[in-house]
Amino acid sequence: MIATPDYRALLDTAIAEARQGLAEGGIPIGAALYHQDGRLLGCGHNRRVQESDPSIHGETDAFRKAGRQRSYRDTIMVTTLAPCWYCSGLVRQFGIGTVVVGESQTFQGGIDWLRENGIEVIDLQSQECVDLLGGFIAAHPEVWNEDIGED
Ligand SMILES: [Zn+2]
Repeated sequence: MIATPDYRALLDTAIAEARQGLAEGGIPIGAALYHQDGRLLGCGHNRRVQESDPSIHGETDAFRKAGRQRSYRDTIMVTTLAPCWYCSGLVRQFGIGTVVVGESQTFQGGIDWLRENGIEVIDLQSQECVDLLGGFIAAHPEVWNEDIGED
């Protein structure tokens, strides 16, 4: 039996990605895909602004960086913010077993739906994540509304 990973430590990888995104002038949302055994498979951050690509969310970036995996059941998607519908769909499509979110206060995304479908969702309620994204939204509300698909 594998011991429960230290989710806060895993979240630090996603937060570092979010901070890198902010330094690049982008939306500070980061993510990392880990194996349950603690191996980092891939990490990334939202690059909508940097690449002018609305499909690059933290989760999709981490997922792509991880490359092909035989199975996703024993993987953990760690993200600074609750995953949107698009990323929640990715989690279900590939059968990722566990999702760790830094916070779901700013945006709840699809976490109830994921839970209803048997995916373990752990919300770490990180104030650091709330403050990081909150500061960006206050400064650039239009970029944020575009990111979550609101007019
Ligand atoms: Zn997303």
